[in-house]
Amino acid sequence: MRLFDAHCHFDFPEFDGRRNEVLADLNALGVRGLVMPGVRRADWGRLVSLSKPEAGLWYCLGIHPWFVGEHDEGDLSALEAALERKERGCLGVGECGLDALRGSVDEQKPWFAAQVQMASRFDLPLVIHSVKAHDQVAALLRAERWQGRALIHGFSGSYQQACHFIELGCYIGVGGVITHERAKKTRDVVSRLPADVLVLETDAPDMSPAGVPKGQNSPVYIPAIFGQLAELRGEDKAWLAGVLMENAGKLYGLAPTVLAPD
Ligand SMILES: [Zn+2]
Repeated sequence: MRLFDAHCHFDFPEFDGRRNEVLADLNALGVRGLVMPGVRRADWGRLVSLSKPEAGLWYCLGIHPWFVGEHDEGDLSALEAALERKERGCLGVGECGLDALRGSVDEQKPWFAAQVQMASRFDLPLVIHSVKAHDQVAALLRAERWQGRALIHGFSGSYQQACHFIELGCYIGVGGVITHERAKKTRDVVSRLPADVLVLETDAPDMSPAGVPKGQNSPVYIPAIFGQLAELRGEDKAWLAGVLMENAGKLYGLAPTVLAPD
């Protein structure tokens, strides 16, 4: 079985000094790679230096809604220039989006719109952070006439909201949330959606699965999240793993064996 973490902040300092150890564990677990989303310009260089496509380590570049306040127009130009260079390790634009629980959605909107436009222009997938703002995210994608691929990472919302995103070309990110028994709504939604829209992710070091202390999430928990998903859906593990890998490949525009090499 080949597994993949489609959204993991492996560049964050929480992993400093133990990345090789985590990578060895991932290898033993069959997790063949991960995508590190960019959240602020100050971190982009770190992503580029950690990227190693032949080992399944990829990144995206973007400005996260929590950090819009530390950026200006020049950073958007720098993002555009970096995307235009089409470095091999860079697979998409993000993490960008809207978060109604932190900061002002109205302030975040122009930053999100600018990144949606860049993803369209360069035909790159979008990695979207959407918290308590699903309807506004969907409305903005529609207003920008979004036609590409996107990941709604760490989705938690209603079945209907998930369906709206799927109509807009989005994949639904499934993470540690579903390992918590209390997450009844999200568990129900991911068990009912078609398998071909689901993508596995951890969002590590955040969004800890059940039994993992806050802030100590790691891509090594991908098999646990996957096992939970297979159980909730009542599907054959080998079959589901293959579909999820195909989905991640389609999202990021690479063959599964290139995205997640042996
Ligand atoms: Zn994230």
